[in-house]
This record gives sequence, C-alpha cells and structure tokens, in this order.
Amino acid sequence: MTDYSPLLSTIPSIKHGFGNKSALLPELLLPYRATLPEKKQVHGVRIADIHHPAQVCGEADGFFTREPGILISVLTADCLPVIFSRHDGSAIAAVHAGWRGLLDGILEQMAQRINREDRTSHWVASIGPAAGSCCYEVSEELITRFQQALPLPPELISPHHHHLDLAAIAENKLRALGFAAVDHAGSCTICTPNTDPRLPQHFKYTSYRRNSHRRAADPHHPGIKGRNQYSGIIITS
Ligand SMILES: [Zn+2]
Repeated sequence: MTDYSPLLSTIPSIKHGFGNKSALLPELLLPYRATLPEKKQVHGVRIADIHHPAQVCGEADGFFTREPGILISVLTADCLPVIFSRHDGSAIAAVHAGWRGLLDGILEQMAQRINREDRTSHWVASIGPAAGSCCYEVSEELITRFQQALPLPPELISPHHHHLDLAAIAENKLRALGFAAVDHAGSCTICTPNTDPRLPQHFKYTSYRRNSHRRAADPHHPGIKGRNQYSGIIITS
C-alpha cells in the first residue's frame, strides 16, 4: 500500500504519494512518468527550478515548480524524502535529504528558494519513509557532528546509542524554517515488514542499508539488490 500524507491529501489540486518495493512509483502518479525531470541526485544541496516536462536539470537534490502537469520526485532507499506544497496547491517541491543533505543544509536551501517570492508559512511539508531511529546506526563521530552543528537536544538527534533520528531532525528544521505544518508518512525503510499477503516480499520498502548488511552476511546470495522508491508530487489542475 502506498503511503500518503494526511496533510497533503487535503489539498485538492495536487496528487502525491510515497512509493515502496511493490510500487516504486505510486500508481496514481504513473500516468505522469514521462514528465519527470532528468536529474542526478548527488547528496548535494542544489535546488533545480522546473519549468518544462522532462527538463534536463543535471545534478540536483531538490526540485521546485509552479507548473501544472509536471511530476517532480526524489528517489530514496534509506535517505529521507520530503515533499512540499503551498497550502493552495499553486506550487510544489521535493527534496532528497540523507544525513549529508541535512547537515549541509538542503532544507534551508529549499526554504530560501521558497522565500525568494513567497513565505514558508504558506507551505506545508511531509516527511516520507526513511531509515528510522530504530535501525539507523551510525558512528559516534557522526552523532557528534550533528550535535555540534544543530541547536537541538542531544536525545532528539540520537534517541538510542549511536542511532540517528533523521525524521526528527528534519521536522525540527522545517518548523524552525517557518513551515505552517509538517507531517510524516510511511515508516522505517529498514525494518517495516510487508503486510500484504498477495506480495511475496518480506519487507515493505527497498533499503540500501538492509541489503548491504545481508550482502555482508552472505556475499553469494543472489538477487539481493534494491531499487530506490519514488516520492512524487504533481499539480494536476
Ligand atoms: Zn527500523
């Protein structure tokens, strides 16, 4: 089942969805696939302005458009997808934020882009499925970097020993940047089981982290590979 944001679902002129293993691109966005910008995500902080369907925009990890009929999306496995809409659905955006993007300020870049001609207080944001604090173990050094860089309580950044809470960090940043509302859709990409009995897979989402652990445990295991899932949004009218 595709994940939807309750917040974004209240805006009638847009469609959105967060994909998973069984539908990498959510079904209701499939008809718009050919309009997707051509891009390369590089864990950077560049935001591309999208004006034309299938626009070639090079290296970018954030996308912004006011044009109806152009699907924008980010591809993620364990990184954090964030999709945005103006409250009236007249402009939309999407961001790919892993730990590097969060540290380097991609959410701040998106807020700056919005504030160029508008205000983030007219916008809402939804944080999609990503590696959860239940599973996302990182080095002590990385936890310390976050704690030194961000004015947030240490237990919010790392609620368990060596575990990073990407979603909580993102939510706090988005609120501090003035977004009117923030919600969460989906769950941990590493441990969420598949609950649809019609589907053979064990887990709901593709996960780079889970696959690399399994590859490390069993390097000869065939077929352990993950394709990233899309988080997408489009203005339809
Ligand atoms: Zn988990």
